[in-house]
Amino acid sequence: MSKISSILVTGGAGFIGSYVTKLLLEKGYHTIVLDNLSKGKKEHLLGGEFIEGDLADRSLLNKIFKNKIEAVLHFAAFTDVGQSVSEPELYHENNVEKTRILLEEAKKQGVSRFIFSSSAAVYGNPLQDLITEDHPTSPINPYGATKLTIEKELGPDAVSLRYFNAAGGDPEGKLLYRHQRPTNLIPIILQGLMENRPFTLFGKDYPTPDGTCVRDYIHIHDLASAHVLALISKGGVYNLGNGRGYSVLEVVSAVEKITGIKVNLQQGPRRAGDPPYLVASSAKAKKELGWKPIYSSLEEMVEHAWKGYQQN
Ligand code: UDP
Repeated sequence: MSKISSILVTGGAGFIGSYVTKLLLEKGYHTIVLDNLSKGKKEHLLGGEFIEGDLADRSLLNKIFKNKIEAVLHFAAFTDVGQSVSEPELYHENNVEKTRILLEEAKKQGVSRFIFSSSAAVYGNPLQDLITEDHPTSPINPYGATKLTIEKELGPDAVSLRYFNAAGGDPEGKLLYRHQRPTNLIPIILQGLMENRPFTLFGKDYPTPDGTCVRDYIHIHDLASAHVLALISKGGVYNLGNGRGYSVLEVVSAVEKITGIKVNLQQGPRRAGDPPYLVASSAKAKKELGWKPIYSSLEEMVEHAWKGYQQN
């Protein structure tokens, strides 16, 4: 293990963590990834140190914190909203209890710079079109509740980044990510195309222009660049989205255009707990972090995600 100042990245072998690690390495940071590989894969790491292990392992954390750790980026968490409803205890244990251990061990070592992967799920049903950070927090599923619980326990130096719908892939095609069991819209459609399976549309009777739900998709490169900026910012809470929504049918059209393959669309019923419209205002991140998203087109997000499916 190294003696130079390092960034500890938990969950750094996963979809977002691995891309952030890639960007940190490009920026010259030294990274130590801690991942139990329950979801991520070692192949997603293009450099830096890797430690296979669990967040709840205090003696391992102790050893890791013997390095000079400048900041902790905490991605390791379960993220499937549906599963959080059926297995809330699992989500509490993994996302809350284990994070508390990490926070305690970091605090003991005087590491207060903590960048936390939070979620738009902390807001629950939106009361306004463009959600700002002062929107009331009232999660409607256990996943969102776990994120909010931790946000409230963070110290003043910590940064909570509330992700909207993370999408895309490595624009350079170096990090080819293919989700093992996708739980989000774009990877679900792409996986379906690869396996020649139909895609089920969850509801077409929402009060939106085409009747399908509208979400704010944000490219992982842009999410990642916000983390790099957060490392040198003061503590706070920031939304990360594009401020522009796309409906499920618009996503399907973009996939068909980029892949050249027709999606076998099947109409299904609504999925429980889906708000019709969820779009972020990220004005605060732009103003205070100096954040500038660069891949805001849906087609680029689909194109970069598709690279991981074609070549993997
Ligand atoms: N969706 C769908 N079929 C699927 C998966 C998702 O119609 O197989 C819809 C879902 O109902 C929601 C949108 O796609 O309106 C985005 O879902 P996702 O789970 O990716 O993100 P969420 O906004 O729920 O976190």
